[in-house]
Amino acid sequence: MTPVSITRPALESILASAEAAYPYEFFAYLGGNLKTGTIEELIFVRQEQNHASVTFRDDLLPLGLPILGSVHSHPNAPGIPSRADLRAFSKKGSVHFIAGYPFTEENLKAFTDTGKPVPYKTI
Ligand SMILES: [Zn+2]
Repeated sequence: MTPVSITRPALESILASAEAAYPYEFFAYLGGNLKTGTIEELIFVRQEQNHASVTFRDDLLPLGLPILGSVHSHPNAPGIPSRADLRAFSKKGSVHFIAGYPFTEENLKAFTDTGKPVPYKTI
């Protein structure tokens, strides 16, 4: 796959959103440039939250928006994909970030749609 990079503002926005949603989980799609594999923005869709998971509605996404992947937080669990995560990952996008608690840059990990860790670059 294309190497993954994320802009500094998008990364900061992920960490701030995870913090703001705490102790609930937060979820967003990641938009940006599909050609260069650069994540530039968070795309929020209506969601129903509880402590364990987020139900998201990808039918509410505007059509034609370039979606590179997704991000969600794990307020109470290590930042590794759960089984439910892997099922969700396979639906849309190719890179999926998980923000583990505490929500620092070190705890923000990226995975492929099959759950393999993938390195990313902040630009
Ligand atoms: Zn998860």
